[in-house]
Amino acid sequence: MSPSNDNIGFGTRAIHAGQIPDPTTGAVIPPVSLSTTFKQTAAGVHSGYEYSRSGNPTRHNFETAVAALEGGKYGLAFASGSSVTATILNTLHSGAHLVSVNDVYGGTYRYFTKVAVHNGVEATFVDLNDAANVKPHFKENTKLVWVESPTNPTLRIIDIRAIADYAHAHDALLVVDNTFMSPYFQNPLSLGADIVVHSVTKYINGHSDVVMGIAVTNDQAVYEKLQFMQNSMGAVPSAMDCFLARRGLMTLEVRMQRHASNAQALAEYLESNSNIEQVIYPGLPSHPNHELAKKQQRGFGGMVSFRVKGNLDNVNKFLGNLKYITLAESLGGVESLIELPCIMTHGAVSPEDRATLGITENLVRMSVGIENVEDLLADLKQALENMA
Ligand SMILES: *Cc1c(COP(=O)(O)O)cnc(C)c1O
Repeated sequence: MSPSNDNIGFGTRAIHAGQIPDPTTGAVIPPVSLSTTFKQTAAGVHSGYEYSRSGNPTRHNFETAVAALEGGKYGLAFASGSSVTATILNTLHSGAHLVSVNDVYGGTYRYFTKVAVHNGVEATFVDLNDAANVKPHFKENTKLVWVESPTNPTLRIIDIRAIADYAHAHDALLVVDNTFMSPYFQNPLSLGADIVVHSVTKYINGHSDVVMGIAVTNDQAVYEKLQFMQNSMGAVPSAMDCFLARRGLMTLEVRMQRHASNAQALAEYLESNSNIEQVIYPGLPSHPNHELAKKQQRGFGGMVSFRVKGNLDNVNKFLGNLKYITLAESLGGVESLIELPCIMTHGAVSPEDRATLGITENLVRMSVGIENVEDLLADLKQALENMA
């Protein structure tokens, strides 16, 4: 099936793109290609695969499928979302500068400030809530802009189209980390991004049992550079992980629909609850970027952040009271998870930066799962009632 065929529905692409029945046995689900090497009929004559670091059929199936869902020509899978960042950053040369949204994923911030800097690549972190803020931070040597939308954990929406136009007018590439939306709710390439990246670990795999990443692009030159780096740096996923992620991907559409309808219901409930100070969900009219979210996204996703009324003790009591909603980092799995950013995901951020970003002690981030919504509502209700 042609990955670029836009007339084919999302759910159909998620199931069929790259998924070619085994030609020898007819197996509808292609077997996992565990072999590290591939027979050549004569020296240099082969079926497209030589050695599994440079290319593997199970990985290729997954890369083809995600590319089809992002509306991209090329997909490249990596051992983690973080190794996608490392690989892209390695395509820059010493002396390059990049502009990043200020509340970028913590691991990305760490890579920019603690690793890339030693390779001579400098990053400036900018509040991009107003896209025009990118201008004063652009330099002669700015080669890349790195954006996430919605941001984490305060779920601000960045105007991807506006940032893309500015970056392109100044010869820089735009990378969008689309992990929080998944390709179901947002396609950054269609908004002008040059590369879209995902932590597959989250929604794409969706079952909290694989760590993996992917980059998708339409730009052949960018693809060739990244493919060269994928092979040279070697941070490739195993065939088994590619198989699991490919299986998870098949249900992405129905999972995302349920994540979002559950999240909307929970956000509305929390907003009406007197124990809650503030709810941050792009699907609520009270969200400051609600209109932009409606324009740029096809839905609002499964992440909800909120501020509980009370001090850290009350918040901890609330978290401890929860029965099904599990206290854990990460997101995007079928099960609901909740976490306290100031101590958990954003514990390494300095107190000053946490204050700037609005990561207060009472801010809780929830990855709403696909359980029955009544059970999630009941769990939150009893935990809030008993937190005093
Ligand atoms: C988890 C995450 C990453 C890092 O991905 P890993 O697979 O954990 O390496 C990058 N960006 C975002 C937005 C994430 O949530």
